[in-house]
Amino acid sequence: VTRLVLVLGDQLSTTLSALTQADRDTDVVVMAEVKAEGTYVRHHPKKIALILAAMRKFAAQLRADGWQVAYSELDDTDNTQSIVGELLRRADQYGASQVLATEPGEWRLIEALRDAPLQVGVLQDDRFLASHATFEAWAEGRKQLRMEYFYRDMRRTTGLMMEGDKPAGDKWNFDHDNRKPAPKDVTIGGPLVFEPDAEVNAVLDLVEAEFGDHFGQLRPFSYGTTRAEALRALDHFVTHALPRFGDFQDAMLSDHRFLYHAVLSPYLNIGLLGPLEICQAVEQAWKDGHAPINAAEGFIRQIIGWREYVRGIYFLEGPDYTKRNVLEQTADLPALYWGSKTKMRCLSKAVKQTDVEAYAHHIQRLMVTGNFALLAGVDPRHVHEWYLAVYVDAFEWVEAPNTVGMSQFADGGIIASKPYVSSGAYINRMSDYCKGCHYKVAQKTGEGACPFNLLYWHFLDTHRPRFSNNARMGNMYRTWDRMDEDKRDVILREGQDFLDRMRAGEVV
Ligand code: FAD
Ligand code: SF4
Repeated sequence: VTRLVLVLGDQLSTTLSALTQADRDTDVVVMAEVKAEGTYVRHHPKKIALILAAMRKFAAQLRADGWQVAYSELDDTDNTQSIVGELLRRADQYGASQVLATEPGEWRLIEALRDAPLQVGVLQDDRFLASHATFEAWAEGRKQLRMEYFYRDMRRTTGLMMEGDKPAGDKWNFDHDNRKPAPKDVTIGGPLVFEPDAEVNAVLDLVEAEFGDHFGQLRPFSYGTTRAEALRALDHFVTHALPRFGDFQDAMLSDHRFLYHAVLSPYLNIGLLGPLEICQAVEQAWKDGHAPINAAEGFIRQIIGWREYVRGIYFLEGPDYTKRNVLEQTADLPALYWGSKTKMRCLSKAVKQTDVEAYAHHIQRLMVTGNFALLAGVDPRHVHEWYLAVYVDAFEWVEAPNTVGMSQFADGGIIASKPYVSSGAYINRMSDYCKGCHYKVAQKTGEGACPFNLLYWHFLDTHRPRFSNNARMGNMYRTWDRMDEDKRDVILREGQDFLDRMRAGEVV
């Protein structure tokens, strides 16, 4: 009997468990472009285009490798426009009742497959370095699930940058060296760009017709769409950006959207690259003396540490994770997140770059858009849906823990030991945004004061019962308490006034 093998748009790896366990002589691979996946949140058109173009090329490669592929294009007339709908249609067409799948990276789809009226066998996604069982065993019995300790285990398991049982350079973590402000001279123009070929252009036209009204610019489109191109992007990063990646990891510049970041997450998250091969290339560059230890360690930590850790948390915490809201924040997402005018230059730059590139780097996501949403009392569910929609690399297993947990503290501190909030001073130190901003970053109150300065204290005061006993926040509350009472009143009043004006639709 024919069996169907489901390959989703973020499962474009020939090493995928569903493919390695399938039989290429008798099984039929099912791949489907469906509207439901593009619209359950209104994904950025660039993200949809990347996935569809990469799916089409992957399907062609599977066929060349001898697989039979039943591929549904978005505008096929009999396309049912949902994953389960397409599985049912293909089951009917091929007389199949069994489906082999690799676990999706989202509870929504896991549940849809579980509830489908088909016999679906779900295999583990072994493209990750830590299985669910490994992560559960690590988490078992721990009071706090700190990434750093998980990361050290992952270094030991993978042997990356290890000298025997010791970390290279005798330190696990060189983060201390990775917080330099933005450099004056940026020696790289960004990630490798790929000119769309005829097939990519056909996808761009289709995406424009179907999803052109979503937030975000589709063209110019310059992401790679095959494994060969992703490998070239990796090589470009290691050769040109990695040496300075560590030093300027947290810096932000208006005219250099990518700085020394890899922009490899889009390829990694859809399966065109694997985590280990990326880390091995980076380790080799360090061994060859091409990249310093703080760059190589810092980068490898993001992949085998943070990336694996947030996935572990997502699956450990279960399907209700995206609904958590311990701070009981209820405000709507301000219109400026969808590109409405704002006088705050940092936000305007970060949102504009998101609009154009479907990309912002970690500190822009965490300390500009994330920081502001948290300070402004936005419901974390709205914040989560925004991040899931607008970034090219956003898939729920990685996006939700970063947003709901790390950035919005909505999980009550599973991921972050304190909320990532800051006044304008941090943004000013790490970026060039404040020069030329309508607001004055050094000004604490009054006309023209930086809104981050007001909202920072407003937030700490609002959530005092929860945070005042947090050892890492004692200094902040002591500084607040030392302030003159009149000054505190002015800050709180002006902060609230700012929020009221923004919520009423005034351009702030
Ligand atoms: P680099 O800075 O060059 O880092 C290298 C690689 O490390 C990345 O490619 C990525 O695979 C991995 N990495 C780094 N930090 C993290 C992290 N915190 N969690 C997981 N992997 C990490 N990353 C996503 O891949 N998808 C998301 O949807 C996503 N949403 C985020 C939302 C918020 C609010 C925040 C604060 C962070 C989010 N991140 C997400 C993490 C991080 O911002 C991106 O991985 C990174 O910006 C990707 O760009 P890059 O490849 O240039 O990264
Ligand atoms: Fe952002 Fe404040 Fe700086 Fe303006 S002054 S760019 S609002 S941090």
